[in-house]
Order: sequence, then structure tokens, then C-alpha cells
Amino acid sequence: MTFLLATKNRHKLDEMARILAPLGVTLCCEDDLPHPLPEVEETGTTFAQNAFLKAQSAMLASGLPAIADDSGLCVDALNGAPGVYSARFAGEPTDSAANNAKLLSCLRDVDRPDRTARFVCTVVCVFPDGKTVSAEGVCEGEIAFAPQGDGGFGYDPLFLSKAGCFATLTPAQKDAVSHRGRALRAFAQNLNAFFREESASC
Ligand code: IMP
Repeated sequence: MTFLLATKNRHKLDEMARILAPLGVTLCCEDDLPHPLPEVEETGTTFAQNAFLKAQSAMLASGLPAIADDSGLCVDALNGAPGVYSARFAGEPTDSAANNAKLLSCLRDVDRPDRTARFVCTVVCVFPDGKTVSAEGVCEGEIAFAPQGDGGFGYDPLFLSKAGCFATLTPAQKDAVSHRGRALRAFAQNLNAFFREESASC
């Protein structure tokens, strides 16, 4: 069975393909399709709702089971913001440098013990018959006082996980602790359980 990885973000696509590779399923992406995937308005108020909207839209456009994620950064001192608005925190179009500058500015008067935050990721697969499989992953950390490292993307230069700043980790180190790594590994287990249930009911 071929699954469509429904993301336009090259960094996410690489992470998803890397972590799902051990599943042994065939993965394809938008570039393998004859026409581009439609833009999806992320109107949900939760990561799960937005991931479902993206996966459902991609499944309807392609006819393939489609896997999408929605993720973001939740900062305690900002009551969970930017949350589902992480990509457009500093306005549209998405600008990571502007998002990071705004985050640092919002936290300028916040001292170390109160800079706690977490990355959250929900992964959803929607099948052509409407069935779904999903999973969530969380990575706890805190927000740095200045950007570090030059790897990763988005808020990585400001996110300090237990393993270190995300922008200083190798891809494998980030996968081992990241919200997306955790969500995709849980998703792989849920997908295997789903396949077992489906074949048992045949
Ligand atoms: P999405 O594409 O709607 O899921 O937006 C997620 C946004 O959250 C991205 O544009 C980034 O700003 C941020 N984000 C999600 N995951 C990560 C990550 O692993 N590192 C850094 N930023 C992330």
C-alpha cells in the first residue's frame, strides 16, 4: 500500500520519511503526484483538527491514504501560545526569523524557571474509506535567551530540549527526542495494530 506524506514542508517531509522508513510501507510525496495538492486552510483550534483537515484534503485529491501532521510550540508563560498559530506567529507569509524574534520579545521579562515550553505534534492518516489512525507526541523543554546552532528549522534555534538545543542536534538526535519523532513512532505502532485488526476482521 502506498501512503502519501501530505506536507509541503521539506524539513518535515524528510523527518517523516526517515522515521516511517522502518515500517516498510511505500511512501510518496506531493512531487510524485501529477498535480499539486490543494492549499488547506488550517481552521482547527487543535493540532489534531488541523492534521485531520490536511490529511483528508490530500486523500480526497489523490485517492491515496494520506498522512499529515500538525505541530507547534506551546509556551507556558504565553498561556500555550503560539500553539496552532506557530507558523504564522509574526504574521503571514511564514517567516521563522520573525517568529523567533517575536518569541524572544514576548519573553524578554521572563526569567529562566518560567521559560518552560513544549513542542506538540499530532499525526493523522485518513484512508479512502474514511477510517483514521492517529498519534500525538510531546517534547518538553524551555526557550533560550538567544538563538543557538544552525541546524533544523522554525523555532529550533530557541528550543532547549533535555538533549540540547534542537538546532545543534544531528537529525538522528532530534528524531530520538522530538515531538514529531515521538508522534511518528507511536503512529507506526498504531498503524501496525490497525493493520492487524483489519486483517483479523477479514
Ligand atoms: P504546521 O506546518 O502548521 O504544522 O506549522 C508548524 C510550525 O510550528 C512550523 O512552521 C514551525 O514554526 C513550528 N514547528 C513545528 N515543528 C517544529 C520543529 O520540529 N522545529 C521547529 N519548529 C517547529
